[in-house]
Amino acid sequence: MSMQSHSEAAPLDGNAAAGLLGEIFAIEITSATITCDGCGASAQIGAARVYGGTMGAIVRCMCGRAIMRVARTPAGLTLDMRGARRLFAHLPQG
Ligand SMILES: [Zn+2]
Repeated sequence: MSMQSHSEAAPLDGNAAAGLLGEIFAIEITSATITCDGCGASAQIGAARVYGGTMGAIVRCMCGRAIMRVARTPAGLTLDMRGARRLFAHLPQG
């Protein structure tokens, strides 16, 4: 079945993606590679420039674009990735 015929099929609910999303959000995030939506550069998050602290942080690309914004509120955590094109999570070895 092609990707196109998949997209024309009736959608599933969010539970159908829970396994894959759970794998992404369980990764060691500092080793994940993030790609800037502005200049297209890729870098490991652990090597990126971060501004902020424990309550909120902005990860910036070397071009200056904010690629991840993380904030802690009384109700929970929020992640804004509008400046990122892609997050690549390396699978654990072994
Ligand atoms: Zn950039």
